[in-house]
Amino acid sequence: MKTVIGLEIHNQLASESKLFCACPTKGYRTAPANSLICPSCLSQPGSKPWGINAKAVGNVLKIALALNCKIILDKPVFVQRKHYIYPDLASGYQRTSKPIGENGELAGVKIREVHVEEDPGQYDLRTGEVNYNRSGVPLVEIVTDPDFTSADHARRFLEELSAILDYLGARRSEPGSMRVDANISIEGHPRIEVKNINSFKGVLTALTFEEARQKNLVKHGAQYGQETRHFDEKRGITIGLRKKESVDDYRYFPDPDVPPMVIGEKLVEKIRRGLPELPAQKRERFVRHYNVTGEEAFAICLEKEYADAFEEIAKDGGAKQAANFMRGVVKKQLNYRDLAYRDSKLTVKTISELLAMLEKKEITEKVAEKLLIDFLDKGLDPRKNAEKEGLLGIHGSQELEAIVERVISENKKPVEDFRKGKAEALHFLAGQVMKLTKGKASPREVKEMLEKRLK
Ligand code: ADP
Ligand code: MG
Ligand code: ZN
Repeated sequence: MKTVIGLEIHNQLASESKLFCACPTKGYRTAPANSLICPSCLSQPGSKPWGINAKAVGNVLKIALALNCKIILDKPVFVQRKHYIYPDLASGYQRTSKPIGENGELAGVKIREVHVEEDPGQYDLRTGEVNYNRSGVPLVEIVTDPDFTSADHARRFLEELSAILDYLGARRSEPGSMRVDANISIEGHPRIEVKNINSFKGVLTALTFEEARQKNLVKHGAQYGQETRHFDEKRGITIGLRKKESVDDYRYFPDPDVPPMVIGEKLVEKIRRGLPELPAQKRERFVRHYNVTGEEAFAICLEKEYADAFEEIAKDGGAKQAANFMRGVVKKQLNYRDLAYRDSKLTVKTISELLAMLEKKEITEKVAEKLLIDFLDKGLDPRKNAEKEGLLGIHGSQELEAIVERVISENKKPVEDFRKGKAEALHFLAGQVMKLTKGKASPREVKEMLEKRLK
């Protein structure tokens, strides 16, 4: 049974004002309810949209170009009204443009289209309160072909897409600004759309759940139809909402109040020339120039600020070690705390300091990780912390040699066993040494010292 998945991704665009009026978008989540509104974004009688926000459209163009789309040039791109009734929509319709770019491609997945639309307001089901501050915040919608074959494939794609949007500086990057509708079917069977998932983890959970649920239905020969489902994040399940609406239900038609956009080649070329280096290009360059592995480059380049930090460290040499450390230990501890590098206290200085101590063999990787954890959680300076805790410099020192001697003299039986050819005895002895050094020595070095001493 083959799984088929396609995504519709919405992300709020970087823009100071709303899509069809001058109301600010900044702080709409925290401002008092219904304070960032005007007659236009509420579609009050007699009000008209002001015309479309050029900055928002520019950001959509950047995104469409970065996704290798063909831009719709020199012909009218209409803004349509998509009708539905829900308290979050003061006008009874949402404005959504026809495609601005089409037929793109990213990581082997076809991008069907990219367009701009307005966010609706927010309706609180529990209290019945409506807050229109979000009404009219510009959104990009990116629609893929059903090219994904697993939930994990979809999640990886979203990571890459998300990195691109950040590199472009084209979106609001705050939690909840990306919302995904995930379509999933078992090949030859009806399609289910899971609406409004707002995290990568959520996409993975929702799709994994749906895949199992649908496979089970198919296995038992159950009949089911196209459906829209809601994702219950807390419980990790999807719940049936309604039969899927068809395009006709929305009664789309061009909005008579908004003149269609016409996008010219000059503008597009200007935007194309201004595109920054994108994650895929940066990865390729890192592999070529710094000789790091593809996986290291992938992990490091997911966040531009992190990639920049790597490059600043790597340009003075030690790129291999830096990549290994930043892809491994550092990334692990950041991920564990659900922290982006840019939101953490970490800086180039701190990472370099840890790397320098590693390089000089003053500390082991284990100790480096401990120092990093203390830095992230308690703000402790790595070197001072290492000095205070006595974690520095056990490597190859007299202190270490003394410990080796002590372990040898205190463990006659294992020493004898080892000399008789019992290799495991060495593990035991090495373990004793590690214990006495409180993990400060490198296990490999300890083993070598023991072997040399006992042979
Ligand atoms: P609609 O008109 O209902 O919005 P579209 O054809 O525009 O449907 O597709 C919407 C999304 O559904 C796209 O992301 C597409 O990739 C995905 N999709 C289409 N067919 C399937 C399918 N059989 N299984 C899973 N996803 C699909
Ligand atoms: Mg659709
Ligand atoms: Zn307004």
